[in-house]
Amino acid sequence: MSQPLLSSSDAARIRLSFEFFPPKSEEMAGQLWSTVDELAAWQPEFVSVTYGAGGSTREPTRSTVERLLRHTSLSTASHLTCVGATREEVAQVVDDFRRIGVRHFVALRGDPPDGAGAAYRPHPGGYANAAELVAGLRAIDDFEISVSAYPEKHPESADVAADIDMLKRKVDAGATRALTQFFFDNDQFERYLEKVRAAGIRIPVVPGIMPIQNLQQLKRFAGACGAGIPAAIDARLAHLDADPAARATVAAELAAEQMADLYRRGIHEFHIYTMNRAPLTNRALRMLGLRPASTAAGAAA
Ligand code: FAD
Repeated sequence: MSQPLLSSSDAARIRLSFEFFPPKSEEMAGQLWSTVDELAAWQPEFVSVTYGAGGSTREPTRSTVERLLRHTSLSTASHLTCVGATREEVAQVVDDFRRIGVRHFVALRGDPPDGAGAAYRPHPGGYANAAELVAGLRAIDDFEISVSAYPEKHPESADVAADIDMLKRKVDAGATRALTQFFFDNDQFERYLEKVRAAGIRIPVVPGIMPIQNLQQLKRFAGACGAGIPAAIDARLAHLDADPAARATVAAELAAEQMADLYRRGIHEFHIYTMNRAPLTNRALRMLGLRPASTAAGAAA
C-alpha cells in the first residue's frame, strides 16, 4: 500500500484520540512514555487513561493522568468506573482528580469484580449504571463527559435497542461524546449509527479503532466483550503467525482501510486503542495519508 488512502485535504480533516492504560511495571512505564512521546506528533484532540476493574488501578490511573497533564501539552481524560464504590467514594476520587486538573472523564459502569460476563451488582450505596454516574459527575462540576457505546451491543444487553436506550439515558444525564467498543464491521457500525440518530441522540459517536497487535489475544478479548472478528480479517492475518513483519504490515493496513472506509461514510473522528504501543498506530495513520507534526510538541518530559 504505497499511495495514501486519503487525499491530503481529507486526511487533514481527521481528528484523533488515543487510549492508554496505566503501566504495571517499570518496563511498561518506559514503553508507555515513549509511546506517548511518539504519538503526540499526531496532535490528538485528547488522550485517555483507563481505570482498572474494581478500582484496582485508581492510583496508577491517577499518577499516569497527572504526569500527562503536568509534563505534556496533551488534553487528557481519565476513565472512571463506579463498580464497587459508594457515591461518596466516587465523589472523593472525582474531587482528587479534579484537583490535579482533570476536566474530562470517560464515565463507565465497569465490569463486575468477577470479570466480564459475571452478574453485575451495584454497590448498595453506589451508582447502578453509567447513566447514574454521568448524572453524579454533572452535579459535581461542568466536566466534559464521554461514555461508552456498543455497535455490536454490550454482552449484558438484551438487544441493540436496549443498548441505545442506555446510551440515550447517558446523553440525557449529560454525556457529550460516545466512544465505541472496538469493531471491524463498518456496515454494522453504520446501521447502529442510523438507529442512534433515529433515537434522537446527537452527540458525536466516535468509532473505537483497534490496530491488531495479537490476533489470538484479541479473539479471547473480543469474545468476552461481544465484539466480532470478521472471517476476512482472520483470513488475512491468521497464516502470518510466523512472520511478525508481514503481520504488522497487514495489521496496519487493516486499521488504515477501516478508517478510510469510515471516512468515506462521513466519520472524521477516531479513538484508537493503542495498547500503549506506537508502531502500528503510526503506520496505519501514515497509510491513511496523515502526516505527523515535525516535532512532538506534546512530548512527555
Ligand atoms: P453501561 O453504559 O451502564 O451499560 C452498558 C450496556 O449494558 C447498556 O447498554 C445496558 O443496556 C447494559 N446493561 C448494563 N447493566 C445491565 C444490567 N444490569 N442488566 C442488563 N443489561 C445491562 N472498563 C473498565 O473497567 N475501565 C475502563 O477504563 C474502561 N474503559 C472503557 C472505554 C470504552 C470506550 C468502552 C467501550 C468500555 C470501557 N470499559 C472499561 C468496559 C466497561 O466498563 C464494560 O463494558 C462494562 O461492562 C460496562 O460499562 P458501561 O459504562 O459501558 O455500562
